[in-house]
Amino acid sequence: MTIPISSTPEATLEQRFLHALASVLPATRPIALHEPLFRGNEWSYVKECIDTGWVSSVGKFVDGFERRLEEITGSRFAVATCSGTAALHAALKVSGVEPGDEVLIPALTFVATANAVVHCGGIPHFVDSEESNLGICAASLREYLHFVAERNNGFARNRQTGRRISAMVPMHAFGHPSDLEGLLRISNELSIPLVEDAAESLGSLYTGKHTGTFGKLGALSFNGNKIVTTGGGGAILTQDPLLARHAKHITTTAKIPHCWEFVHDEIAWNYRLPNLNAALGCAQLESLPSIISSKRNLAERYRKAFADDPDLRFVEEPTGSRSNYWLCTTMLRNPDVGLRNRLLAAANDVGFMVRPAWNLLCTLPMFASCPSAPLPVARMLADGIINLPSSPAIAMNAVV
Ligand SMILES: *Cc1c(COP(=O)(O)O)cnc(C)c1O
Repeated sequence: MTIPISSTPEATLEQRFLHALASVLPATRPIALHEPLFRGNEWSYVKECIDTGWVSSVGKFVDGFERRLEEITGSRFAVATCSGTAALHAALKVSGVEPGDEVLIPALTFVATANAVVHCGGIPHFVDSEESNLGICAASLREYLHFVAERNNGFARNRQTGRRISAMVPMHAFGHPSDLEGLLRISNELSIPLVEDAAESLGSLYTGKHTGTFGKLGALSFNGNKIVTTGGGGAILTQDPLLARHAKHITTTAKIPHCWEFVHDEIAWNYRLPNLNAALGCAQLESLPSIISSKRNLAERYRKAFADDPDLRFVEEPTGSRSNYWLCTTMLRNPDVGLRNRLLAAANDVGFMVRPAWNLLCTLPMFASCPSAPLPVARMLADGIINLPSSPAIAMNAVV
């Protein structure tokens, strides 16, 4: 049965939720959670690759894409890769994560964050989130590590397992920057390098500076559902020329440049971004400013639509940050999976493709035995978050 859309005082939460969505979104349905938008030079750049034959692992669009990312993010170096997961794997690898190390990651993140750790031979160590920005909570992490970790020969060690804790991976959820200042302080005190999972936060700023440029390295994603896309792709950001060179090297089969000889000097990956994908990316980056400003308009419309609701609140950008609002998010004030699922069902029934946040990674079978901090806030967020349709096309047509 489809629930009627209503905003009267007697209306149920489901009815009010649908009414808020209908007040913001176009009447044509279904409306996807996030679809890419190609309104610029995408076709002409991709066609140029095909016309010239430069479709694969080298070409001017790969270089152009990397240089443009450096300009947009203010990062000294950007290294393009074939996916965000590949970027995060290579970033963790060159940051020094070794087999048997533990890596601190939020339990509330996409599975790729944990997979990248395991691809390095590392062990994810889950930590709690913060309600205000949905990222790792610095205060509870500090308290937890006070008991769990100690500094030992310039490294952090887990007292309980004896393993080295060799990185911490803040993830800027749905585009909202994490508390980088608080996390960097812990990182410095305990000598745990930061590697940022900025897959969702291209264009998001923390204290005026681009996310992904605070850590030793950062990773971006250009998957089809991200704020801009290369079809599939990613990039590593770093300020350190040696790390940038090493990242480029191990993502391109570690080949020593030579006119004809095939000499490779370490085990590496073919994580290159093809020129064809980079061409799409170059065109998409041209649209990034207009996509971000229209998403911010869409966020403002959602904010108003949920402003007076006693049971739902719109998730706003953290103070001091500028979010790209990649995915707009509303949250149950009293999180409850049953209620959340009723809202998800009601909205999907009428063609609003709203989605929950991820299941906490510690609940997935392959990570069930990984070490974990207590996760009270992450559990609450996982039970309360509902992501709202946020495609750039909706945003473009929703100018306030
Ligand atoms: C999308 C995403 C990734 C991985 O990116 P892919 O390009 O899909 O490999 C990693 N972490 C987070 C948080 C993401 O949202």
